[in-house]
Amino acid sequence: MAVKRQLSMVLDLNKCIGCQTCTAACKLMWTNRNGREFMYWNNVETQPGKGYPRDYQNMGGGFDENGGLRLGRQPSQDDYGIPWEYNYEEALMTGTDPWLRPNVKPTWGANWDEDEGLGEYPNSYYFYLPRLCNHCANPACLAACTRNAIYKRQEDGIVLVDQERCRGYRYCVNACPYKKVYFNEQISKSEKCIFCYPRIEKGLPTACAQQCVGRIRWIGYRDDEEGPIHLLVEKYKVALPLHPEWGTQPNVFYVPPMSPSKYGPNGEALDESRIPLEYLESLFGDRVGEVLATLGAERQAKAEGRDSELMDTLIGYKHAEMFKLS
Ligand code: SF4
Ligand code: SF4
Repeated sequence: MAVKRQLSMVLDLNKCIGCQTCTAACKLMWTNRNGREFMYWNNVETQPGKGYPRDYQNMGGGFDENGGLRLGRQPSQDDYGIPWEYNYEEALMTGTDPWLRPNVKPTWGANWDEDEGLGEYPNSYYFYLPRLCNHCANPACLAACTRNAIYKRQEDGIVLVDQERCRGYRYCVNACPYKKVYFNEQISKSEKCIFCYPRIEKGLPTACAQQCVGRIRWIGYRDDEEGPIHLLVEKYKVALPLHPEWGTQPNVFYVPPMSPSKYGPNGEALDESRIPLEYLESLFGDRVGEVLATLGAERQAKAEGRDSELMDTLIGYKHAEMFKLS
């Protein structure tokens, strides 16, 4: 879907520490109102893992090889893990219950499988994957909406739900393969990440990027050849979309995680990455090996005191160099 300009974000998974500051920044700013308690427009999940909502990667949606829209399934409330209440009154006020406990037995929630990962010690592995709406160039949510309530802004490509037009049919939830549209039962409308457009319009970065402790997020326009997005996505080609095979053409890109060597049976370092390449390829496509080789070579150059424009960019010395919003 052609727009005049397209905003984009790159996230370097080598730098994410899973602190959830971005999640909290987004939640406090946009989703702390009634009906949004379970919504995480930004979430940070541990991979390999089931993610949020639970098992979203197997719910379908997106487009098939011929461009046909696929309506996947909607997550259930259990897949989100609706926030539970505690017996504060009984435990803390009246003393009628000696234990502070949830009023239901929790079985799932955002970040439920944090730091579990896969593999056997000493070769176990995991990494953090922050996720938000990809403000796709070919948004399945928009294609599925029979009310024309979802639109893509010409000036920056941000995908929004028109709350006046939305009637709560939820086709968008079925169609988004990333499950980044949420249905607010209290107002019977769909809601999603708005890429902090009121901040963007003032020349400010998104809250998640501004607050990011690890400085892993760059924001800019795809067509700005002087900006960091162009450098990471087009020039060095080290930033890749999540699940490109789903056909929505995401505008959020990830620098895949490098990992230490695997240990052999006698504790020797093997010439094999601890995070299996095939696993990373299942998330980010078949260019991952090439990207990891580029990152390794540039990191070596920097370590040896040679210049590396790529490493200097990925270090993210100054916010002013990470966010280019004009
Ligand atoms: Fe729509 Fe999902 Fe793409 Fe966001 S990630 S634009 S909700 S299809
Ligand atoms: Fe990762 Fe940054 Fe979010 Fe912390 S704030 S979890 S480092 S993306």
